[in-house]
Amino acid sequence: MSAQASESNFIAFNLSTQNQFQQKQNVQSLTEVSPIGKIWDKHKANTDKVLHYYAKAGEDYFQQYAWRMKMCSELLEFQLVPEESEDILKLKLLDARFCRVRHCPVCQWRRALMWKARAYKILPQVVTDYPKHRWLFVTLTVKNCQIQELRENLDSMNKAFKRLTELKAWPAKGWVKSTEVTKGRDGVSAHPHLHILAMVPPSYFSHGYLSYAKWVALWQQCLRINYQPIIHTSAIAKHHNPSLLIPEILKYQVKESDLVGDREWFLELTRQLHKTRVIAVGGILRQYMRELEEKNQDLINESEDTDEADKASLSFRWKHKLQKYKIE
Ligand SMILES: [Zn+2]
Repeated sequence: MSAQASESNFIAFNLSTQNQFQQKQNVQSLTEVSPIGKIWDKHKANTDKVLHYYAKAGEDYFQQYAWRMKMCSELLEFQLVPEESEDILKLKLLDARFCRVRHCPVCQWRRALMWKARAYKILPQVVTDYPKHRWLFVTLTVKNCQIQELRENLDSMNKAFKRLTELKAWPAKGWVKSTEVTKGRDGVSAHPHLHILAMVPPSYFSHGYLSYAKWVALWQQCLRINYQPIIHTSAIAKHHNPSLLIPEILKYQVKESDLVGDREWFLELTRQLHKTRVIAVGGILRQYMRELEEKNQDLINESEDTDEADKASLSFRWKHKLQKYKIE
């Protein structure tokens, strides 16, 4: 989340504190200060849309989601941090309250940022510890299903994946599995799939290699189905860093555009995905990636700075009518 304030005509803050009061008077909205403003506005506007879907639904817990999402990240406090080698300040999120509702567009975005930040920290260590191991990216799918059958389908896919990892032919020593659901091309069905980042021993390409046809056959066998499922496999070139795949493996569980497109589809999606697991880590990666799993998550940032008390800051409040963050 780097705010590249230098690249266009955003207000450049002077480093001296006495100027900051004066500069605050001129600032109106977050978009004027940083490119990150546009991103915040977009996610928060989608949060407003989604909360209205919940607010009009019957279930009590949907009402509760709507209420929590209304409060979500209403006020953002940013610290002004000097940009290295530039004479301007960049914004670093200092404080905000998040609703943590699973399908809140703001929280989904923050969660993905947090997972990515952690994975970028952890994977280089794995590569150092296992320099000769290779990495595969595998996507496992089933036929599209009705949105009302999504939970059942995900459940059987996860069971099938467990069977797959227990087979003698399973080549990976460690893996990360993420679940994604997209809307089918027909606009009503759901397309659940699993993305797997798998770490295989250096011998994989000479012993125990699985051809594409073999992957399909094994996945079909584990799913216990009578058709050949579609899968995708690719290997990361030797000496290439598996971090390249982090954006693919740790993307959103549901695309933001699929969250806001259709109220009924979205509400059913929420019911179907309630308490399902998004990311799981297995094998020798468990010890490294434990933190990636959904525990107490700091959605603000990953930094360990403690000396923040006397730093200059700016606060912005969400204006529902304007659909913009305005200076407080
Ligand atoms: Zn939220």
